[in-house]
Amino acid sequence: MRRLGVWLLAFAPLTRATAQQRPFTHADTLRGSITPERIWWDVTFYDLHVTIDPSDSTVHGWNGISYRVTGRPRAMQIDLQTPLNVDSMVQDGRMLRYRRDGNAFLVTLAAPQPMGATKTLTVYYHGKPRVAVKPPWDGGLIWAHDSAGHPWISTACQGLGASVWWPTKDTQADEPDSQRIALTIPDSLGEAVANGRLRAIDRRGDGWTTYEWFVTEPINNYDVAAYVGHYAHFTDDYEGEGGRLTLGFWPLPSHLDTARVQFAQTRPMLQCFEHWFGAYPWYRDGYQLVEAPHLGMEHQSAVAYGNGYRNGYRGRDLSGTGWGLTWDFILVHESAHEWFGNSITTADIADMWVHESFANYAESLFTECRYGGTAGAAYVIGTRAKVQNDRPIVGPYGVNAEGSGDMYYKGGNLLHTIRHIIGNDSTWRSILRGLNTTFRHRVVTGKQVEDYMSEHAGVDLSRVFAQYLTTTQIPVFEYQLAGDTLNYRWVDVVPGFDMPLRVSVGPDRWVRLAPRQAWQTTTLPLADQDDIRVDENFYVLARRTRGGRENDTVTRPLDSSSSGSRAHPGGLQQRRPATGPHVPPAGHQRSS
Ligand SMILES: [Zn+2]
Repeated sequence: MRRLGVWLLAFAPLTRATAQQRPFTHADTLRGSITPERIWWDVTFYDLHVTIDPSDSTVHGWNGISYRVTGRPRAMQIDLQTPLNVDSMVQDGRMLRYRRDGNAFLVTLAAPQPMGATKTLTVYYHGKPRVAVKPPWDGGLIWAHDSAGHPWISTACQGLGASVWWPTKDTQADEPDSQRIALTIPDSLGEAVANGRLRAIDRRGDGWTTYEWFVTEPINNYDVAAYVGHYAHFTDDYEGEGGRLTLGFWPLPSHLDTARVQFAQTRPMLQCFEHWFGAYPWYRDGYQLVEAPHLGMEHQSAVAYGNGYRNGYRGRDLSGTGWGLTWDFILVHESAHEWFGNSITTADIADMWVHESFANYAESLFTECRYGGTAGAAYVIGTRAKVQNDRPIVGPYGVNAEGSGDMYYKGGNLLHTIRHIIGNDSTWRSILRGLNTTFRHRVVTGKQVEDYMSEHAGVDLSRVFAQYLTTTQIPVFEYQLAGDTLNYRWVDVVPGFDMPLRVSVGPDRWVRLAPRQAWQTTTLPLADQDDIRVDENFYVLARRTRGGRENDTVTRPLDSSSSGSRAHPGGLQQRRPATGPHVPPAGHQRSS
């Protein structure tokens, strides 16, 4: 139901130049594009029933896929990854014929498929699903044990795809309106937790119990999660913009006391994000935080938590400023995805920056909510040291491929820069909240998000997005100063790059410039030539040159206290929390 218009899907692949990382295959196209076998039907409901058996690491069950016919019917593509296998596919009581093409099944339908009708196809399947190699990044089924030796099982499949453990239309471009997740496990295993709310527990008396969970709102299929283990459970309520939100926490029993302390960060997180982004998107389904045998994942209304009940990212500060150690990275970052990623979902993972750049910037906003704007800015600016500028943030379309991991730190800094281009926090907040009302529970292209922001910023941001999302160059503000005459321009930029910039001309005295690629001249009221400094909130480089003589340029950062490294702008002076320790930057590790 939550589906992007056909015309948007058809044109999205043409909107950007793409950088290929490897030769793409027929299988990549089947997985990552809206194939003819996908385009004519719109998922309305998944009725998923899975039995999880740790004795032989297998799963089996069925998914009733309900859909509306929205185009001329033909074969139907259902995705299920090897080594899982389909047992049968049934519609209207008839077994259907199908052909396997790698991880896709092309089903020949027998019943009429009138336009507008809602039909159901049931897929029965079984097998030994791919075991996660390094979850959550290299995912699959996770067959772990807790410290007491009990089996502790989970799923993680972002990027890889939900079809690694259940049959589905494996694309972000189509979500059901709602979904049942019925998990059957041996009685001895403890409990099974999934997304949404627990509707029923069926203790069958044969050694197996079924836990029926239900999500009443649209959900990405990579967000559908199973957690099986011996859990403790406690609940709370939160009065927020959408009324009373139920909170459910599922730590392992040995971590219950620690979890009560650490998970107290949930309330200020919700307060902060509701302030900036608007109401939590899933009041009907609630908010849960579930301890998982991997670092974490934004599983909708059942966020996976594996950060060891420590602040920071596994106890480290990704910003190098100390601020990142004042809150729990996984609790904050993954929960931010409830707004950006889960409620607003991109049709193609090439546009995954919409999920990750906003979740990254949410970390800075949370720091700001707790410790003020200077701290929030220091955090996001501090993460610039992690920017690689290796390849564009936007990936190739139609092949299920993401762009650069710069979608995190550079993407967050792009948003921080845009905030300062706008220069008005009430407008900025209304854009963040407006995105969440306009695109609430919807699938979007990155272009739609960019256009919305430009329209409501009152500034055409198209070249700013093009620069930071599709190139690896950081804009250079090049200037020459003679007396109080300033010549300036942008270099290393996309054609027509026209980002405004704020420059200091003395203590607490700022001017806004509108540099272009062509030289411009202005007169500045400078008492001292060293007073000129680019606002560090803009993620740019600054370079002073001597007038007109290309061979005689002098390059230095605008602020001589800065390192002047390629990832840092001039004028970088981070303020650290008075008591927070300064920790060495963590290695470049993408978060989830
Ligand atoms: Zn993330």
